[in-house]
Amino acid sequence: MTHPILSHDVKLQPYWWDEAPRPVLPDREVPREADVVVVGAGYTGLNAALTLARAGRSVVVLDAEAAGHGCSSRNGGQLGFGLKPGLDGLRERYGQARGTAVFKESMAAFDHLAAFIEREQIACSFQRKGRFIGAHRPGHYDALARRMDTYRKELGVETHAVPRTEQHVEMGTDLYFGGAVVANNAALQPAMYHYGLLDRVLSSGATVIARTPVTSVERDGARFTVTSTRGAVTAGQVIVATNGYTRDTRALPAFRRRVIPIGSYMIATEPIEPALMDRLMPKDRVNNDTRRVVLYYRASPDRRRVVFGGRVALGETDPSISGPRLHAVMAEIFPDLREVKVSHSWLGFVAYTFDHVPHIGVIDGIHYAMGYCGSGVCMGTYLGHKIALKVLGDAGGRTAFDDLTFETRPFYDGEPWFLAGAVLWYRFMDRYGPDRGPR
Ligand SMILES: Cc1cc2nc3c(=O)[nH]c(=O)nc-3n(C[C@H](O)[C@H](O)[C@H](O)COP(=O)(O)OP(=O)(O)OC[C@H]3O[C@@H](n4cnc5c(N)ncnc54)[C@H](O)[C@@H]3O)c2cc1C
Repeated sequence: MTHPILSHDVKLQPYWWDEAPRPVLPDREVPREADVVVVGAGYTGLNAALTLARAGRSVVVLDAEAAGHGCSSRNGGQLGFGLKPGLDGLRERYGQARGTAVFKESMAAFDHLAAFIEREQIACSFQRKGRFIGAHRPGHYDALARRMDTYRKELGVETHAVPRTEQHVEMGTDLYFGGAVVANNAALQPAMYHYGLLDRVLSSGATVIARTPVTSVERDGARFTVTSTRGAVTAGQVIVATNGYTRDTRALPAFRRRVIPIGSYMIATEPIEPALMDRLMPKDRVNNDTRRVVLYYRASPDRRRVVFGGRVALGETDPSISGPRLHAVMAEIFPDLREVKVSHSWLGFVAYTFDHVPHIGVIDGIHYAMGYCGSGVCMGTYLGHKIALKVLGDAGGRTAFDDLTFETRPFYDGEPWFLAGAVLWYRFMDRYGPDRGPR
């Protein structure tokens, strides 16, 4: 029996697919040769393909599923900057100058995506209305305000703290202990962005073949043979853009060992009254809070539904199970949504890394960018473009992430056996850990 909070016709697939169903590309033979083969047709792979094809290279993109079947049509569509370790954490780790440069790369990624969508005129409900971050515990508010102060003074970020007494101006909840606004953050419809991107890639002359898993990549001197279920193609360069779906890729063990696939879960509600939406999210911002077990939510582009995401299971689970759990967490923030049913529930696999920063580089001659730690809309777009510039030998391909060691751990081969323990620990820290808040 289905849970009563799921609507009778609940769809266990992304809400975004209602407007942008996954494209059906014609089945075709894999060409025998190409300048570059790209594995994965999400934001990373397609952005790499677009830059290369427009520079005159012959490009073949292969995806195991429909194009955009991975995170690139499943995500929350929240656009911002910053990396998991925070500015202070990056400076402690890499030193003041390099740490700052790594952080700024995330700001460059945001600017790059915004400019790209504008230049290409991609219709994807892009809107720049800012972000509200809720303080989950009282001490988090001070830490958040301090962090925003540093961002404003040192990085020129337009941001301000919101004390609890003024919280309702930003959000219709009493759960948080105040929060902060970052003005230059944005939202888009992720599957529509992928759709527009795919259209530009196909128009550029690149070949995109769906439902074609790559089964091996072998190097033979200066060239590679990429074997897929539809045949083999030889190429001068290979780009791996499989991110959280690298686990499915026994063909690429070096990458499997370096990314940690983690399910991220989302729901969309049935339509709600405009007056209720105006009370819950009056500024139409994207939102998250200071918990370690991340929650992120927003209004749909038409402001009829709440689209809410997070991690609500220790191990991976089914969207018919995660849907009611996410709803329960959402109703703690917005009690007014307690009776509003869930119309869509889905999940996708993000890729974490052991050092919590994204990586771009070359392993065994194969180019890659991955490990966006749950924030890859801007970063995947940006690093996909950067890999292409590297392949082209263009100095513009340099990034502050170059030369960072892409770590793995002994006994790790791509199956995150430690995940349940890690989630349990983070939940414990959210509830009982030191009340210090974000760095
Ligand atoms: C629920 C959810 C919410 C998220 N919310 C946000 C958000 O609000 N903001 C944000 O910035 N990020 C968010 N993310 C993360 C973001 O969506 C990803 O980081 C980004 O889409 C990664 O793009 P990608 O192209 O690198 O990988 P993907 O889009 O995941 O594409 C990888 C592709 O590789 C293919 N593949 C794997 N193995 C093979 C093989 N052997 N042969 C051929 N193809 C293969 C897969 O089929 C897949 O299509 C979210 C993710 C999820 C799941």
